[in-house]
Amino acid sequence: MSPHILVLGGTTEARALATGLTARPGIRVTTSLAGRVARPGAVAGEVRVGGFGGAEGLARWLREQRVDAVVDATHPFARTITENAARAAAATGLPLAVLRRPGWRPGPRDDWHPVPSQAAAADLLPRLGHRVFLTTGRLGLAAFAHLTHLRFLVRSVEPPEPPVPPHARVLLARGPFTVAGETALLREHRIDVLVTKDSGGTATSAKLTAARDLGLPVVVVRRPPLPDGVIAVPGVPEALHWLDALGRP
Ligand code: NAP
Repeated sequence: MSPHILVLGGTTEARALATGLTARPGIRVTTSLAGRVARPGAVAGEVRVGGFGGAEGLARWLREQRVDAVVDATHPFARTITENAARAAAATGLPLAVLRRPGWRPGPRDDWHPVPSQAAAADLLPRLGHRVFLTTGRLGLAAFAHLTHLRFLVRSVEPPEPPVPPHARVLLARGPFTVAGETALLREHRIDVLVTKDSGGTATSAKLTAARDLGLPVVVVRRPPLPDGVIAVPGVPEALHWLDALGRP
């Protein structure tokens, strides 16, 4: 029977992996999406949408669907699903790899301030600037809601979940973004500090170059750690290689 691979998705890499796998004959590929985005892009192979019901629900689904291997290609900040995948893989004995794109690294001209959480970013912000470009996504903005004396430009793909800071303009947009576009945006809104998660990848990294060129400080929320003992691969070719190696004696 064809091997069945589950890709936990919601990222560019997950989509590319599904495309790469469906191009191989004799493989069944299912991509799982959380269902947060109203109009997700097209994905090759089979797609299922919505939560599994925790690690136990995921383990049940893996057994019922006779899955042979799992690649968790979710976003580096999607901590719960990654923990659930590790627990479900342990419970079912299935091989699991986590596809984690490398984090961003500061260069010599960057003024980065790494912090462990959005709350820590909010603590630091008033010392760094007054006109904030906030790009940490639509969730968790409550951490900034008490900063009533700062102005925010909030950018997210879907509308932010309240509460948001009182002086906030919301810009709905999906990457990829260009350095020229980001520079113009920072100038237009007279931004003096940027807040980002360490998402990694190229789709949203132009803002970092623009901030460097304009000499702006950047507050970078660090990634949550991976669960103990999981195999991590940095990209789609490595994930395909890992899957290929499973099939070899
Ligand atoms: P999360 O906090 O780790 O997960 C919360 C719950 O959502 C999980 O327990 C699971 O529900 C469900 N879930 C998450 N990803 C799923 C998937 N691929 N398939 C099925 N169920 C999923 O996740 P999140 O941070 O809200 O992210 C949700 C999705 O958006 C992820 O797939 C991620 O790749 C994508 N995304 C996240 C970010 C970010 O910054 N967090 C950015 C871009 C894209 P059950 O427990 O019921 O199974």
